[in-house]
Amino acid sequence: MPEAPTTIPAEPPGLVVALDGPASSGKSSVGAAAAKQLGYRFCDTGLLYRAVTWLALRRGVGETDPDGLVRLVDEVELVADEAGRLAHVSIDGEDATEAVHQPEVDAAVSAISRVPEIRAALLARQRRLAAGGRIIMAGRDIGTVVLPDADLKLFLDAGLEERARRRIEERGVASDSPEAVEIHDQLARRDDLDRNRPVAPLRAAPDAVHLRTDGNAFETTVSLVVEAIRAREATAPRAATPAEPATSPAAPPRAARKPAIDPTPIATRMGLVIRIGSFVIRTLVRVFTRVEIVGALDAIPRTGAVLIAANHASNADPVIIGAFLNQQLGRPLNWLGKREVFEWPVLSWLARQAGVHPVDRGSADVEAFRSAIRILEAGQILAVFPEGTRSPDGRLRAAKDGVTVLASRSGAVVVPIGVANADRLWPKGRPIPRRVPSVTVTIGAPFRLDEALAAEDPDAAGDRRRAKTAGTELIMRRIAALLPPRQRGVHGEDSGRG
Ligand code: C5P
Repeated sequence: MPEAPTTIPAEPPGLVVALDGPASSGKSSVGAAAAKQLGYRFCDTGLLYRAVTWLALRRGVGETDPDGLVRLVDEVELVADEAGRLAHVSIDGEDATEAVHQPEVDAAVSAISRVPEIRAALLARQRRLAAGGRIIMAGRDIGTVVLPDADLKLFLDAGLEERARRRIEERGVASDSPEAVEIHDQLARRDDLDRNRPVAPLRAAPDAVHLRTDGNAFETTVSLVVEAIRAREATAPRAATPAEPATSPAAPPRAARKPAIDPTPIATRMGLVIRIGSFVIRTLVRVFTRVEIVGALDAIPRTGAVLIAANHASNADPVIIGAFLNQQLGRPLNWLGKREVFEWPVLSWLARQAGVHPVDRGSADVEAFRSAIRILEAGQILAVFPEGTRSPDGRLRAAKDGVTVLASRSGAVVVPIGVANADRLWPKGRPIPRRVPSVTVTIGAPFRLDEALAAEDPDAAGDRRRAKTAGTELIMRRIAALLPPRQRGVHGEDSGRG
C-alpha cells in the first residue's frame, strides 16, 4: 500500500554537456563513466541511429524511402539503466543494444543517418531527453545542432589508426587479419560520410573544448572529461552542483549517519503480489465508499513513460489511485515514499511490492529526483502529488515545480488526475476512514508538457525559468478542472482553461 509520498524533489542543478566525436573516439564509454562519477545522466544518441538502421535492414527499408525510415522511429526507445544512463536501446520492447552494434549496422548506419528526415525525426526526441540538464549527451552533432546552447561542449578525438586499433581490440580480432583491415577501412568510410553529409555533419562546434585521446589510458580520458565538467560547473552562471549540507568536520553529513536503504526495483509488470494486494485494498475500500473512475482512462498510454499528477488531500489518495488504476491499466504504478516506511520490515516489504521507492525527505532531494527520472526513463508509470503534502482542507494548494522539471526532462506523457471526496472519506488527522457515498477519480486528457506549453504560452516555452512556473500552473489548472468547485482551491479560477 503506497504511503503518503514525499515532496517532489526540487530540480538538482547541473550542466548540459555535449560530447561529440568520430566513431570509436570513446564517447560512449568515456561519457558513461564520467556521468557515473559526476552523478549525471548519460545519453548515447548513436544508439538511436543504430536502432533505426537495424530495423531498416531487417525490413528492407532503404535511404531512398525517408517516410518508411521515419515510420521506424516510434519503435525505438532508449532505456535507462540503474544509474539513469541511457546506454541501452530497445526495439519493440526488446533490448537490442548488442544487435545494433553488429558489423552490418556499422556498415549501413552512416548512410541512414544522412537522411534529413530521420535526423529531423530524432531531433525533438534528443532535445526532450536533454531537457532539464545534468546530462552528458554523446553523438556527432550534439554541440552544433541538437544542443547548440549546451553549457559545455567537448569534442573527443583520436587519429584513425588509434581508433581502429581500439575497435580491433574491442572486437577481439587479430591485428593482421582481414577483419582488422575491414574495421579500419570501415571507420574511415564512416568518418568520411559523417563529416561530409550536408545535414548536421560531424564537426566540432566553434566553442567546443578539444580533447585528443591518442595514447591515453581509458581512465585518463575519463578524468579529463570529469575535470572539464567540474571546471565548467565552478564557473557556470547557474548553480552547478547539488548543494552540500553545511557540516563541520565533527558532524558527519545527515545522510552518512543513516543506514543506506536498498532501492526498490522499478515496477514494470503486474506481479501476483500486486494483483492480490490491489484486490484486497479495493475490497476494503468498498466497505467505506463507492469508487468511480471517470474521464480519459482509455487515453492513458499502455506503454511508455507516464507521469501521473494528482491532487492530494488524504492518505486514501495513493491507495485508491494505485489499487484501482493498475487494474484498469494492466500496469503497475511507481511512487516515491518517505524512507521511514522502509525502516519497518513488514511495511517496507509491502511498500516495495507496491512500487514505492524510498527517498529521504530533506537531505536527499537529488536522490529522489534521480529515482523519479529513472522510473520515467525506464518507460514506466510514476505517480506524484505536485502539492507535496496533503491539503489540510481538501482544497488544491500551490505546487512545487518538481513536477514540471520531471515532465520536461523525461518527456513523459502527463496524466492529470482529480480525486474528489477522498478528504471526506479519510480526512487528514483522523486515524481511520469513515463511510461516504462516493469518491470520484477523474482522469484528464494526457498531454506532453512542452507541447501543451508551446500551444498555450509560446513566449514562456523559450524561457526556462518562465516555462517552469507556467508548466506547473498548467498542470495544476488541469488537475483543478477535474475537481468539484469546493476542492479547486488556488487554481480554481482559471480551471476552465485546462
Ligand atoms: O556513436 P556511434 O558510432 O554509435 O554512432 C553510429 C552512427 O550514428 C554514426 O556513424 C553516425 O552516422 C550516426 N550518428 C549521427 N549523429 C549522432 C549520433 C550518431 O549521425 N548524434
